[in-house]
Amino acid sequence: MPNILIENGSIVTVNTGNEVIASGYIFIENDKIAALGAGPPPSTLRRQADTLIDATLMAVMPGMVNAHTHLFQIFLRGLADDKPLLEWLKSAIWPVACALTEEDAYVAGLVGFLENIRSGATAVVDHQYVHTDLRNSDGICRAAQETGIRLLLARGWADYNYHPTFMESQAVIIAEMRRLLDIWQGAANGRIRVEFGPLIPWGCSDQTMRETYRLAQEWGLGTHIHVAETQAEVDMVMQSHGLRHIEWLDHLGALGPTTHLVHSVWLSEREIDLIAAKKAIVVHCPVSNMYLASGIAPITKLKEKGVTIALASDGPGSNNSQNMMETLKMTACLQKVGNLDAMALYPEDVLGMACRGGAATFGQPELIGSLEVGKKADVVLVDLDSPFSMPVHKIPSTLVYSASAGQVDTVIIDGRVVMRNKQITVMDEKAVLAQARTVCAGLLERAQAMKYSLDQVKW
Ligand SMILES: [Zn+2]
Repeated sequence: MPNILIENGSIVTVNTGNEVIASGYIFIENDKIAALGAGPPPSTLRRQADTLIDATLMAVMPGMVNAHTHLFQIFLRGLADDKPLLEWLKSAIWPVACALTEEDAYVAGLVGFLENIRSGATAVVDHQYVHTDLRNSDGICRAAQETGIRLLLARGWADYNYHPTFMESQAVIIAEMRRLLDIWQGAANGRIRVEFGPLIPWGCSDQTMRETYRLAQEWGLGTHIHVAETQAEVDMVMQSHGLRHIEWLDHLGALGPTTHLVHSVWLSEREIDLIAAKKAIVVHCPVSNMYLASGIAPITKLKEKGVTIALASDGPGSNNSQNMMETLKMTACLQKVGNLDAMALYPEDVLGMACRGGAATFGQPELIGSLEVGKKADVVLVDLDSPFSMPVHKIPSTLVYSASAGQVDTVIIDGRVVMRNKQITVMDEKAVLAQARTVCAGLLERAQAMKYSLDQVKW
């Protein structure tokens, strides 16, 4: 791989001290950051560099981690606006998802990963629970392999009380995890990894939750689950189990540092304490929570208790984008208005969640999430020479409140330039978009032909 030298950039390290270098350089050797410093680069590095990137008037930041999405929903965005979660699922997500093929998942993955790259994300957790074809998950992994992005595939499952098309037996869930681990764990120079993704407390049986969590611990994998997104869902588990969502996980022994709690909007004080005590990670999806009118997650309270928080877009069906630059601003603004406190979150807090918090969700805090020597070269250059962000007084503030995804100029993942001067370099982006139009039309046609009936759903 060619060595890369980035010079003259404002380096926003997002390290634990939130250090910003007004003008500095980064030297990338293979897939790692080999040197980083203030001022002009040493002449030896300049001589060694195969590729020279001038980052004048640009912020150089770590690639963000979009810590929760469902990319199969790419073809569903805009189909079911203005509905609460359970109605949104029934009227749009399930009917179309029933007709999904591996090819659909693959092309949706390509579009979704390109959108993530264009908005500054270099790593994505895809919670993939539509197994109409067991190879759908492979389609998503192939798309990650080809776009060059870092992927943690949370292999979703439900085995109880859910839509019949999406339920599986415990034997199938475990056999499929073994198959995916064999093929994909550590693939593409370690960029692609797999973990368990139980869908939601009201769709997962106690037995399978216990068993998959036990296996996750044994195999060194994370467990990624939606919790307490809406009040109605909390009531459902209260009725069936007499427990709130986090209490249920704790009761099963499935709450720990490798548990990722997506949403965590409707939490009791006791649950917040449980999350902090067990060191579980909260994945916050502010735009999706606003879009579906789910509520405001108690992020500032969780932060005060020392809980690690990551940020995410959620699926394109409930956002309706994958825009992590927008997510930064929404995270800060939602907590400010929710707490009626203008100091609820600072830009540095939000960048830390998007980068270091996401790296923790990925289970790789030592490899990604900040610009530091020895870490993976997942680097994003944001063009600040734009009317959207002029003038720049304080770079973290500019990145969170002013800059937009259109200003992301160059993206490097695992030492490879996947976007340069706003052009995707790894594939013909226009051809992918054309393919997506055709595939989407076919998917919607098949979904209609299946004449899906809502009567199939008991609850
Ligand atoms: Zn989700």
